[in-house]
Amino acid sequence: MVQSINSIPAFDIKQQYPTIEAEVNKAVLEVLASGRYIGGTAVTGFEEKFAAYITTSECVACNSGTDALYLALRAFDIGAGDQVITTPFTFIATSEVISAVGAKPVFVDIDANTFNLNIQQVAAAITPQTKAIIPVHLFGEPVDMTALMQVATAHNLIVIEDCAQSTGASWGGKKVGSIGHVGCFSFYPTKNLGGCGDGGAITTNEPKLAERIRVIKEHGQKNRYQYQEIGVNSRLDAIQGVILQIKLRYLDIWNQQRQAIASRYHEFLSHIPGIVTPQELDRGEGVWNQYTIRVLNNKRDWLRTQLQERGVNTMIYYPHPLHLQPVYESLGYASGQLPISEEVCSQVLSLPMFPELSQQQQDQVIYSLKEVSSL
Ligand SMILES: *Cc1c(COP(=O)(O)O)cnc(C)c1O
Repeated sequence: MVQSINSIPAFDIKQQYPTIEAEVNKAVLEVLASGRYIGGTAVTGFEEKFAAYITTSECVACNSGTDALYLALRAFDIGAGDQVITTPFTFIATSEVISAVGAKPVFVDIDANTFNLNIQQVAAAITPQTKAIIPVHLFGEPVDMTALMQVATAHNLIVIEDCAQSTGASWGGKKVGSIGHVGCFSFYPTKNLGGCGDGGAITTNEPKLAERIRVIKEHGQKNRYQYQEIGVNSRLDAIQGVILQIKLRYLDIWNQQRQAIASRYHEFLSHIPGIVTPQELDRGEGVWNQYTIRVLNNKRDWLRTQLQERGVNTMIYYPHPLHLQPVYESLGYASGQLPISEEVCSQVLSLPMFPELSQQQQDQVIYSLKEVSSL
């Protein structure tokens, strides 16, 4: 029976604003009146609060998650002749920055249940040219950082955590972004801590590294009008700084709401034949930027259409693995080389997930999936 139902978006960032509207408006108007649109306490205040939240001694704010990753690679002098191991099942920004600094991305396969890097494959891909690993805590689910850090330490490799989708997640009780040498965060509006525009940050416990990153992100300027290396311009705006300070106070509540939705999805969907719900590792506490199921037997696209007819909108993150993208043709990867990633790309379907998703909407997602799966 198909009832007349309301359409449920895959995500809806409009719903958050009314809940913090008064605070945000006040803070933004203060910035507008102050004339201090770049830097100042709006930004340093955010850096301090974010470092405290992630439990690192340092935080450097920047323009985006992409810049955060780029700046981290630059600060470690990673470039031509170096290899950086990462996952092919992520947003292009993760590998794009490796190429941007002149290094070579080395893609290794993932684990189908967590969607994250397979640590054995990481170990097997290490060569004398390998300089760093970029694990991505995809969809908010932490990578097994104990195993990853063991491999990295044994081979003296740098670990740059891509935390763009996992602000607030933790592994073994430690916040992601505080476990590797640096953590790179994005405040793109759809991320768990999303600004009202672009934004990013780098966290680390190494003051010297933070200092170097500040130089590179400010045109390579060490002292005023003295340039010691080629840099870039990468700033978090003052307006984003005050908005993010407010939103940071709500992040844990919003993440708990995401976790509650994920628990209900898991409870009601994990036994449906033909679909596989995401698996959380025991020591990980995920923050569910996405709740992504796998649809077996080549039925993903069909199921997606069926859900849409029932008012349930879904997303496909990501339809193609990075190692087979045209831009990486020159790396010489062949179809079938990273089979899990390739198969997963054809199976994944991300269900509606945002903190304000009501119980009734969750029920509609669950009911619709059950109904469609029995067809
Ligand atoms: C969003 C995202 C980025 C890039 O962040 P931007 O702020 O959009 O530049 C990097 N890596 C992953 C995994 C992401 O999801």
